[in-house]
Amino acid sequence: MEHIDWEVQYLSLPAIRRHCQKCGGPSRFVCSGNFRVNAQRKSLDIWLIYRCACCHTTYNMDVYSRVGPDSIPPSELARFLQNDEQLAWQYATDNSVLQKNGVVLDTVDYQIQGLLPTPQMGKIQPLCVAGASGNSAEKKDGVFGR
Ligand SMILES: [Zn+2]
Repeated sequence: MEHIDWEVQYLSLPAIRRHCQKCGGPSRFVCSGNFRVNAQRKSLDIWLIYRCACCHTTYNMDVYSRVGPDSIPPSELARFLQNDEQLAWQYATDNSVLQKNGVVLDTVDYQIQGLLPTPQMGKIQPLCVAGASGNSAEKKDGVFGR
């Protein structure tokens, strides 16, 4: 039995599908990768900003809603203010955040990298596949019996 690791990678920040008021129906919203932070009295709102692919209407997805400033570590707050790319990826792919906002992932451009097993034992070919799917990117282990 051979053990092969495949890595599935997003090629861009995943878009979401939600109703667009201006378009009047479900639409694809592209993630800008930018956050908006709003401080009001003693509470903070933080949104991840998306734009409708058709009409460019902005949609602010709740990341934090009316939380105390002490509930977010200062280092993380600084990353929101700097539009940290890694943080945008973290929240754009967080199923609990997506569910709370009532949105679903749209198709995702991805590529798979790893080794492809061949019928001849011991011969393994490199694999690189690109495609689009709604599945989230994660490292997958493939196990092939022979
Ligand atoms: Zn629209």
